[in-house]
Amino acid sequence: MIHSDFHVHTTFSTDGKSEMADMIESARGRQIHTICFTEHMDYDTKYPEGEGSFMVDTEAYMKRNHELRDIENPDGKLIGAGRDTGEAMYGPVEVLFGVELGLQPHVKDFYEKYVSSYPFDFVIGSSHALNRIDTAFSEFWESYSSEKEAVRAYFESELECARSFDVYDVYGHLDYPLRYAPSALKSGVFDFSYSEYGDILDEVLKTIIEKGKGIEINTAGYRKSLHRPNPDVSILERYRELGGEIITVGSDAHVTTDVAADFDLAEKVLRNAGFKGYYVFRNRKPSRIDFE
Ligand SMILES: [Zn+2]
Ligand SMILES: [Zn+2]
Repeated sequence: MIHSDFHVHTTFSTDGKSEMADMIESARGRQIHTICFTEHMDYDTKYPEGEGSFMVDTEAYMKRNHELRDIENPDGKLIGAGRDTGEAMYGPVEVLFGVELGLQPHVKDFYEKYVSSYPFDFVIGSSHALNRIDTAFSEFWESYSSEKEAVRAYFESELECARSFDVYDVYGHLDYPLRYAPSALKSGVFDFSYSEYGDILDEVLKTIIEKGKGIEINTAGYRKSLHRPNPDVSILERYRELGGEIITVGSDAHVTTDVAADFDLAEKVLRNAGFKGYYVFRNRKPSRIDFE
């Protein structure tokens, strides 16, 4: 069983629906021993009117995160992964301080300064936007002549970010925009095959591995229109095949009921792809938890 959720948003994120304390309660009830909050920081991205800015108030977020961390773990000794005994089901939850950065090639300097200014445990680098437009919105898709062209442009931009940035620990939901492709929203399927984008994706994965970084398996895809994780199983398998090992598991929950959602499915996918376990980060350092 997977006991760590490494991608969680709260009301400190523009689109978060639940308070941090409530997310921790939900984690406890679902046998999650370590929860890492990863609020949104999307610098220089345009959103349709009324969507907000997606830039976390980091000082306020850190204050609340550390308050709750200390309530759960007053003597500072708790390490969630060491308590996989079954008895600890309703025990304290280890609370970690992370962030999800929306990477775009032109915002490198900003993020380098930002990340070095706070004591983050874990940093997800995600491509959400291209040319400042979030791919979750139709404006992005309408600017390309086909969905495949749009997806190709997205992966190319991801490659540029994977190469030029060093501030991330894992790359988030590598095929994120497929969830929002008009065809996926309509039919529940996006016609994806690795080989169609393999020339770019191989480079993305090799870059991440060579840099000693990792990727995540994000279970939000099961809840959105895709009915599968992000990234696609074929991308996870190829990552493993190329020697990739560092992988975190995240629900991308924005509400209490989604904490650790579909982690049983994620575990099956990872085991089938040949992963021996999953990773957690503390103070930006990875450690592996082997599957039981
Ligand atoms: Zn994201
Ligand atoms: Zn997220």
